[in-house]
Order: sequence, then C-alpha cells, then structure tokens
Amino acid sequence: MSPLAALPSVEKLAAALTPEVPLPRPLINLFIRRQIQHYRQLLLAKEEHSREEIEDSIREKLREFANSRLQPVINATGVLIHTNLGRSPLGPRAAQALQKIATGYSNLEFDLPSGTRGKRAGYLENALACLLETESATAVNNCAAALVLTLRTLVQEGKNEVIVSRSELVEIGGGFRIPEILETSGAKLVEVGATNKTHLHDYQKAITPQSALILKVHRSNFYIDGFIGEPEIPELAQLAHDNGLPLVEDLGSGAMMNTDELAPIEHEPTPQECLRRGIDLVIFSGDKLLGGPQSGIIGGRADLIAQIKQEPFFRAVRCDKLILTTLQESIDQYLETKTDPTQADVPVLKFLRSPIGDLQERAQKIIAQLPRDQAEITIEQTLARPGGGTMPRSEFPSIAVKLIPHKQSISKLAKRLRLGTPALVGYTTDDALFLDLRTIFPETDSLVTQALQSALS
Ligand SMILES: *Cc1c(COP(=O)(O)O)cnc(C)c1O
Repeated sequence: MSPLAALPSVEKLAAALTPEVPLPRPLINLFIRRQIQHYRQLLLAKEEHSREEIEDSIREKLREFANSRLQPVINATGVLIHTNLGRSPLGPRAAQALQKIATGYSNLEFDLPSGTRGKRAGYLENALACLLETESATAVNNCAAALVLTLRTLVQEGKNEVIVSRSELVEIGGGFRIPEILETSGAKLVEVGATNKTHLHDYQKAITPQSALILKVHRSNFYIDGFIGEPEIPELAQLAHDNGLPLVEDLGSGAMMNTDELAPIEHEPTPQECLRRGIDLVIFSGDKLLGGPQSGIIGGRADLIAQIKQEPFFRAVRCDKLILTTLQESIDQYLETKTDPTQADVPVLKFLRSPIGDLQERAQKIIAQLPRDQAEITIEQTLARPGGGTMPRSEFPSIAVKLIPHKQSISKLAKRLRLGTPALVGYTTDDALFLDLRTIFPETDSLVTQALQSALS
C-alpha cells in the first residue's frame, strides 16, 4: 500500500474538528490542507506516520492555532502594564464611549455648527494641551511613530544631526533601538558623553551648523546607578535654545499623576514637569501609565506641533476614530479629576492603589472554595511590578495564591489555566504556580475560582 494512504481527507477531518474548534470553516479547511501537505512531504520522504498519529497532531495544532485568536485574558502576573497582555486596560467609561462611536456614525471630520468638513481630533488636541499645560498637542498611533514623525519633521537636508547622550541609546523593546529609529527618520545620530556621565559641555561641543535638535530619551526600562551624572534639563534647554535648537524628550510612559503618591514606588516623570523645565516637545505613550488606548502623544511648542502636523508622514500614522474616542475619554477624565488625578477611572491606577488587606481578603475567599486534596494552596506575600517599560526599580507588596499541585506538574497546571476560557495567566517558579491578585479585576475573582476548581479536578 502507498504510504500516502495514511493521509486523512481534508473534508472528513474538517467536518470532525469543526464542532471542537470554534473557527470559521474555510480557515479550518485551509489549516488542515496545509498540514496534510506537510505530512505528504514527510511520507514521500519515507518518514512514517500512521493516520491516527497524523489526525491527532493536526487536531492539536488546530487547537493551538485557535488559541492564538485575540481573546480576553485574566492577568495574574502582578505586572500592571504587561506588554504581552495588552498593556493598559481601558476603564468602563472609555469602553462605553467606544461602543457608541464604533457602532454608529460620528462627527470625526465634520463640523456640526457649519455643516461642512471639520478638523479631525480638534477637540482632543485642545484637551491634551490643556491637560499638559502647554501650547499645543496632537496624537498618533503609538509612541514610536510619534518619535519617528517628530524626528522626520525636525531634520532636513544638511541639518540632520540629532544629539543624544550615550547613556540614553536604549532599546525600547521588541528589538527597536533609538539609533535605528533615528536612521529610519533620516536623522544622523551624534553620540555624546559616556555611558555613565554626560556633561553640558559634551552637548555643547557637539553642536554644529548641521545640528537639528537635542534628544533626551527617558531610561524607562533600565536604570544606571553609581558614578553617574547628566546636566539638569533647564541648563540643557538653555544651551539648546541659545543655539536655536529644539530640545525633545521621549518620555516613554509619562504618568499624569505622582506615581509615588499611589504606591511605594518611584516617581515617574510627568510630561507636565518636563515641559515646565524647558523641554520643547515631549512624546509619550497613551497605553502605559496613562491608561488609555495605544497611541503616541506629542505636546509642546505650537510652531513645532503645527510643523509636525504638516509632515506628509503624519497622515500615515494618524489615529482612527476608535482610538480618538477612547483617548478623548481618558484625557477628559484626567481633566475632570485634575485636583486629584488618583480618582480617574483608570484600572492600572486602581490596581496600583489596592490596599494589601483587600487583596488578602479576596485571596482567602478564592482559596476557601478550592478542593484541598489536589494541591498545597497557600496565600503568599509577593511583589508586583508596574511593567511595560516603566519604573524598572519599582517592586511593591502584593498578594498571590500559591499552588503546588500533587498529581500534575506545575507547568501542566499553568498550561491548563492558560488554555481555559477565559485564559488565566500567572507565573511559575521552580516549585510553585503563583496567581497575583493585584492585577486581577475583583469582578473576575469568581472566574478565577472556577478556573482553579476545574484545573485541579
Ligand atoms: C515604551 C516606550 C516607547 C514605545 O512606545 P510605544 O507606544 O510602544 O510605541 C518609546 N520610548 C520609550 C522611552 C518607551 O518607554
């Protein structure tokens, strides 16, 4: 018999797997066809596989593929702004606004008083400038895009040198590095100073007629300590301005309130502070500590923002109505709670503030409902982290449910929880699985309990 006789039929296998895997049928068909093609090659190359083996493997791979579909996850990692888990969740108010704008028509580019074409994001830009206490502001798709756009706008033929301290040539994540971002933007990097120390005169010596701007990059995902030093922002701003150069800062996260007042963590610089000290343009993310949608905000001097908005690349990275809606909602909330920004309805800020006693109580409630014969289950003091490339030194007290399963491995238990609905993601050490309460929405505690009950059965 031909070895190819082991290959299942696409139609039959698809019909068998369709009830198990909730994906559109054409996608299941395509996936199976590709897998069978793959096994055809193996069989022709004399690698033996039985039909059963092939079917089981395709079923398993199809399930894994189905799991890659974007879906809700319960974050039990204790990392508040988890880049892999979608960074900041939106608050209910932003979600409601999103629902309304997404499912209907809106005045996105329509001026209602005159009944003619209107300005996109006009309201948002005003609200942003007001919140940042600066002349002007705008927003694009993300912080990296905001940086590229700003650099592209401010460098030109023969005047394209961007001066950056060697202590700030960072990798912002996912392999993206400041020197490469500069190159993409048509800028020529001029490095100054040393890894640990950069002096004002280092910047001064680097200024030439070809200089376009001085760039500061916030060390958001690492820190340096020891014999270090850099000029204060006001003196660097003075130097830049004396030479007719803008001083731009990529701030990364950019908190809207004093983070050190919310939890025992570092003070994350706010965009307002930077601008007050003399930065001409500040750039930061909308979905880190701000707690809005993925976006990149640029605020500062009106003449520079106007130039940025005229750069053709702006059109390529402009926000769509869904982002504009949720960002508008986030910014309005901060404006409304300006006297006490800790009151803004932003989930990550609530998580930062949650008292340890509340977390303890919730953990107790969860474990009281779990079977005790399947695992050793305890409540542990742990450390949560802001994450998302913010405040790399800040760990602060939290509470986790700790599980040491008796009859299955820790990795097996963790995997079962990850593959549940909703998916539950904790973290493991050599000897236990931890589910940190700080990043779990209290209203999903019952889902956590159910997930554990089922995974421990
Ligand atoms: C996070 C970060 C970025 C990138 O922000 P995105 O919104 O992901 O594009 C850029 N610069 C710094 C310093 C950051 O911390």
